[in-house]
Amino acid sequence: MHIIIPAETLPVLAECDLCVIGGSCTGVFAAIRAARLGAKVILLEKQNRLGGVATLGLVGMWHSLYDTTGSQQIIAGLTLETLQQLARTGACTDFSAEGGQRGIRLNPEELTLELDAMVAREKNLTLHLHTTFSRAIMQGEGDCQAIVAENKSGRFAIKAKIFLDASGDGVLCKSAQLPMRRPVHPQPPSSCARFSNWSFPPAFDLRECIERYRDRLPDLPCGYYWGMQQPNSTLYMLAGTRVLNCDCDNAEEISKAELTARRQIRALLQMLRQELPEQKIYLETLPAAIGIREGLHIESIGTLQGQDLLSGRPCPEAIANGTYPVDIHNDQDDSITFKRLDGSTSTTRNGTRIASGRWLPEGQSLPCYQIPLSCLIPRGARNILCAGRMLDADREAFGAVRVMVNLNQCGEAAGAAAMQALDSSQPVTSIDVQAVRKLLRAGGAIII
Ligand SMILES: Cc1cc2nc3c(=O)[nH]c(=O)nc-3n(C[C@H](O)[C@H](O)[C@H](O)COP(=O)(O)OP(=O)(O)OC[C@H]3O[C@@H](n4cnc5c(N)ncnc54)[C@H](O)[C@@H]3O)c2cc1C
Repeated sequence: MHIIIPAETLPVLAECDLCVIGGSCTGVFAAIRAARLGAKVILLEKQNRLGGVATLGLVGMWHSLYDTTGSQQIIAGLTLETLQQLARTGACTDFSAEGGQRGIRLNPEELTLELDAMVAREKNLTLHLHTTFSRAIMQGEGDCQAIVAENKSGRFAIKAKIFLDASGDGVLCKSAQLPMRRPVHPQPPSSCARFSNWSFPPAFDLRECIERYRDRLPDLPCGYYWGMQQPNSTLYMLAGTRVLNCDCDNAEEISKAELTARRQIRALLQMLRQELPEQKIYLETLPAAIGIREGLHIESIGTLQGQDLLSGRPCPEAIANGTYPVDIHNDQDDSITFKRLDGSTSTTRNGTRIASGRWLPEGQSLPCYQIPLSCLIPRGARNILCAGRMLDADREAFGAVRVMVNLNQCGEAAGAAAMQALDSSQPVTSIDVQAVRKLLRAGGAIII
């Protein structure tokens, strides 16, 4: 059954140089970089706050800004600027070479406030929260004339010279009918949760307890979990759920996934109440949305392949550097596979290592890897760029680049790339990468 919607006339809310869809740090850093370079920027976010998975999803954990030797800083720019601001109030942990190796923990609420302040300082940047992108209006192949968005005031259009899809889900690229693909086994989504009084008696083993209760509470999550105490908070964040076999691009499946993940959290809470009543462990926060690790990917002018990412060869077109290992959460069971820059590999299932080895000869390691701009430029696009988890990478490369310090840099680079395309009046597929690298370096990014 179908229904026909009569053609409608929409007001054009604004015209700008760059319209960014999605307000995680990826989108925010793109918007800020472009605004600082002089572009008039509009940033749309469908939720009530900026930060994406880092804030809405409660995942306040960034990774090292240094190479694996700890001797060279490889990430700076807006990522460093944000951390420096957070550090003033103790809202993030030590991000020096030594401290950062253990992961940089952030307070999600204070990150929200910091992003508000950063955006407010940019006079060329207008933010619309509670505003959802709904469709692209195309004027030719890969050439977007305007986008339609909606919020409480109604439906409207925004015209821009360049559009950046930083929605994670690739909503703009999909609507613009740019080529996209769904991985056969996308990494599974998870909902985090925060608890108070998260402490256990000395002999207590959470994993053992979950297995002991599994028959009684079949909704208990599978065996993979990690967690952390968040700075400036008494709360403990647990990333302990996993929804298997989920297509996060399918509305029905993602709706069911929210419920499944919350049932897992509920079962965990029930178990802890029964097993450790004296501990008084309370559930304090659920995420605003389930955390999506992987959905659709764009098809770009240069797919990032794991073998290139981990080749150790310098990448003359790099716009970002990283050290996070290839980290693949299985969507069929609770296993997780790592391929680390120290040359080791391992697969763990339910807390037990089931395989380990080396992919580099003994004694060899990689200091870092690099991400080229090409994986952010959709094939066939004229004025559409992308940044974030829908970038074009194979399973292995995606496993590594998908973390926030990497995507933050990609966002910042997309902002500079948009500016370069504007200045040169060239389609995005002809962007001068060396000019983008120069803009990024001048803006404080580390470009190797
Ligand atoms: C449980 C979990 C744990 C993780 N752990 C870590 C970790 O410890 N460290 C790490 O660095 N990474 C971690 N990751 C990975 C990382 O968080 C994500 O890959 C990354 O945040 C993705 O960033 P993004 O900008 O692409 O998307 P998102 O963070 O998902 O941001 C997309 C933004 O776009 C908005 N948006 C979407 N559609 C629209 C629309 N139609 N209109 C307007 N706005 C829209 C969303 O509301 C959101 O704010 C984890 C991921 C998960 C799920």
